[in-house]
Amino acid sequence: MRIMAAMEVKQPFEEMRIRLARTRAVTVLTGSGISADSGVPTFRGADGLWNTFRAEDLATPEAFARDPHLVWEWYNWRRELIATKRPNAAHDALVALERRLESQTGRFRLITQNVDGLHRAAGSRRVTEIHGNIWRVRCTGCGDIADNHEIPIQILPECTRCHAVLRPHIVWFGEALAEEDLRETYEALESCEVFLVIGTSGMVYLAASFAAVAKAAGAYVVELNLETTPSTHVVDCSFQGRAKDLVPALLG
Ligand code: ZN
Repeated sequence: MRIMAAMEVKQPFEEMRIRLARTRAVTVLTGSGISADSGVPTFRGADGLWNTFRAEDLATPEAFARDPHLVWEWYNWRRELIATKRPNAAHDALVALERRLESQTGRFRLITQNVDGLHRAAGSRRVTEIHGNIWRVRCTGCGDIADNHEIPIQILPECTRCHAVLRPHIVWFGEALAEEDLRETYEALESCEVFLVIGTSGMVYLAASFAAVAKAAGAYVVELNLETTPSTHVVDCSFQGRAKDLVPALLG
């Protein structure tokens, strides 16, 4: 394990750049850190939304059953906010990495905890949004999932097929990740040469468990984050800084 302070990283950072440029199979996990650099508010930390709002009132299946209007108002507010944000240099660098690997018939998979859709907006294609996407809706009756970019979305939105209420296609507290997403995730973790973990300090357990899976399968694990995290002990290499600076520098 090597943890480098910002001023000491030059040599290992350069080595990592070279390693990544030669790699043919990369899996990436991104978290709120990459979105924060686009101005998307985060949930945890000093300025996190969960300091102002109660997650149990807004982001649980029980909250939606109790007051679907309130929950949709909350998602409308967030949609309006996120709609003003644009992908940053870190999102773009991951698109360029995907294109390079594609042209070399390599492997690429981007797993994200972010629901803002910024990776897709940037042009990433092989994306697994394990916590869902704020621009998608799911029918509480027939389960149909559809894109929906309305701002504001009509409250309460109804399924055009079965007229049941639509809910945000978001994994709420107390809900399990979708099986298909987990299958894609584990397949990508177990088949990559390098696993890149970017800006995930908020979801410590998940990031740490994914890093452990990738490492056990033989991957070299690199963490890019504002600060060291509890998963830092499982990674091979860790760099501290902003995603929008570190990711393009490492992949460019
Ligand atoms: Zn339906």
